[in-house]
Amino acid sequence: LTEKFSSVIDKLRKAKKIDEKTLDEALKDIRTALLEADVNVDVVKKFIADIKQKVLGQELIKGLSAGETVIKLIYDETINILGGEEPPTLAKPDKPPAIIMLVGLQGTGKTTTAGKLAKYLKSKGYRVGVASTDVRRPAAAKQLCTLAQSIDVPCFVDEQEKDALKLTEKVIEDAKKQGFSYIILDTAGRLHIDQELMEELKQIKEKVKPAEVLYVADAMQGQEAITTAEEFHKAVGLTGVILTKLDGDAKGGIALSVRQVLGIPIKFVGTGEKIEDLDLFYPDRIAQRILGLGDIQTLIEKMQAAIDEDKAKQMAEKVMNAEFTLEDLREQIRMIRNLGPMEQILKMIPGIGSQLKNIKVDEKQFIKIEAIINSMTPEERMKPHIINGSRKRRIAKGSGTTILDVNKVLKQYEEMKKMMKKMKKMTKSGGFPFRLP
Ligand code: GDP
Ligand code: MG
Repeated sequence: LTEKFSSVIDKLRKAKKIDEKTLDEALKDIRTALLEADVNVDVVKKFIADIKQKVLGQELIKGLSAGETVIKLIYDETINILGGEEPPTLAKPDKPPAIIMLVGLQGTGKTTTAGKLAKYLKSKGYRVGVASTDVRRPAAAKQLCTLAQSIDVPCFVDEQEKDALKLTEKVIEDAKKQGFSYIILDTAGRLHIDQELMEELKQIKEKVKPAEVLYVADAMQGQEAITTAEEFHKAVGLTGVILTKLDGDAKGGIALSVRQVLGIPIKFVGTGEKIEDLDLFYPDRIAQRILGLGDIQTLIEKMQAAIDEDKAKQMAEKVMNAEFTLEDLREQIRMIRNLGPMEQILKMIPGIGSQLKNIKVDEKQFIKIEAIINSMTPEERMKPHIINGSRKRRIAKGSGTTILDVNKVLKQYEEMKKMMKKMKKMTKSGGFPFRLP
């Protein structure tokens, strides 16, 4: 999938103009790529239609080329489908113990994930225990308990109890008495969907009223995992999905289907066989993985730069018209401070870096100037000439500085203004006129 997308994206990037034909060609490639990546047909159709509509109605994003704009839209839409920017959260243990029930077919990674989740919750400071409801295979419970032992988490067992429902009840009873926050229930799996298993899971669910029923899906199984998940969802009712084995070749295309087809969030992803290989599900990371957009960050930075440049231009215009106020001065200081430590910024300016090598920039100066301007009224900022002695006293007091400091800022401001007037005479194209204090 990544390769396919990369070639589409390369084409788009190079395209100077996106007309409908170029767009249709690109979307056709994307469609094929998504289908090959096991994304559900209906999901793909909707995705393509949405993108097309958005692209055609969209102005170019500032700072990006036409092709880059399309890529950005595709990226945004993918994140959107995956559920937005933030990873979803796990149900809180409001009425402890909160039961997290893991369900799924055999071999998808339920038991491993139970251990991973226990470690994750323990690291968050919760008292967590694990239990297996697989009464048919004692080895299954043993595998879970060995994992739990390795991270020092209690494992509830009762080898004598051969009834899954009764066993589960006992476990929950014990956990309640002992004050556990979370209990992770590893359930039995089968090779295929099986009515007996579904019935058992349904009964367990009704009995223990779990806070979460998470379907463990093997990302390597592709589209089939979704079909199976649908069956589980219909029979048991799911609250989320954990996508395992994302460390393999699977690009996670089924993540798109989970949200669209099942309408439930992916909460975690498994990224390896080790017990710490569990991550929260970050939609933007998966989107980048699905689309193969290693360098989406560059696009975002370019957009940001364009926005800053816009602001700088506006500022320059103000300067040219000599309406530069203390408000503007404050804005400039903020912009500069937002960029990061002063020394680093100066180093990036060609020709300045070496000269300033040994100069320490006093960031406190900036903070002081900002504080002083903050203590002024909007009127004072727009018309600094009204700032008389008593106003100065008030400003100094408000900003925790002295009248001397206030005078200094006002003087610097006047000098800057003068300098700008000179610049205006000298040049017609504006620059970035801020001078160090
Ligand atoms: P269960 O039958 O659903 O309980 O599955 P298991 O937890 O026993 O896991 C089946 C196999 O998948 C084991 O070999 C695990 O080590 C492996 N496995 C589970 N999760 C992951 C994962 O995120 N990445 C990789 N590479 N392997 C995993
Ligand atoms: Mg198992």
